[in-house]
Amino acid sequence: MSIMFGKARTCNIVPEHEPAECNIVVLGAMGSGKSALTVKFLTKRFISEYDPNLEDTYPSEEIVDQQPVLIKVMDTADQDGPVNCDRYLAWASAFLIVYSIDNRLSFEVCQQYVEAVTLYTKGPHPEAPIILVGNKLDMERYRQVNKADGATLAARFRCLFFEVSACLDFVSVQNVFYEAVREVRRE
Ligand code: GDP
Ligand code: MG
Repeated sequence: MSIMFGKARTCNIVPEHEPAECNIVVLGAMGSGKSALTVKFLTKRFISEYDPNLEDTYPSEEIVDQQPVLIKVMDTADQDGPVNCDRYLAWASAFLIVYSIDNRLSFEVCQQYVEAVTLYTKGPHPEAPIILVGNKLDMERYRQVNKADGATLAARFRCLFFEVSACLDFVSVQNVFYEAVREVRRE
């Protein structure tokens, strides 16, 4: 009985649609800029060289739409696409699936990730939103993936889609992470 009262009190303080924590997993081909985007979000800076094999999770206290949230970003470093996904699938509140607009192969890998994650979240598991991210927008001259291709993939899997650059403005990168929080709150 006392547990019931305790639960009710907690719910009064933190409404169910506003999670205090949001676990964001960043996925995509090696070299697509997952670490650069993560570091940009956390520090507002572009770090051009980052250990390609380093996988880690970083916490950041943020205020999104006047509501505090502890965002935990898992910057993954898989070399072989969506294999051994167990460590993040159940943990994730949301997925940022990244490709590089100047690399067609990274878009193919990204598609594999979208399919693998969707397969998982459509199963008997709570649905976690996916956000598709075309990175390296500053490399427009070398573009290999049309914006329309990204938009089509996003529409097919009903996910949000943004093109950004880890080395251009901070707010666009921050917005991608904040949109993930907003999507989780909408669930
Ligand atoms: P990860 O393997 O997905 O974590 O990719 P990294 O973040 O390590 O980035 C791979 C390479 O792409 C590095 O040389 C970065 O400097 C570069 N890079 C990352 N983001 C951008 C970007 O937005 N624009 C450009 N021009 N280069 C980027
Ligand atoms: Mg990396």
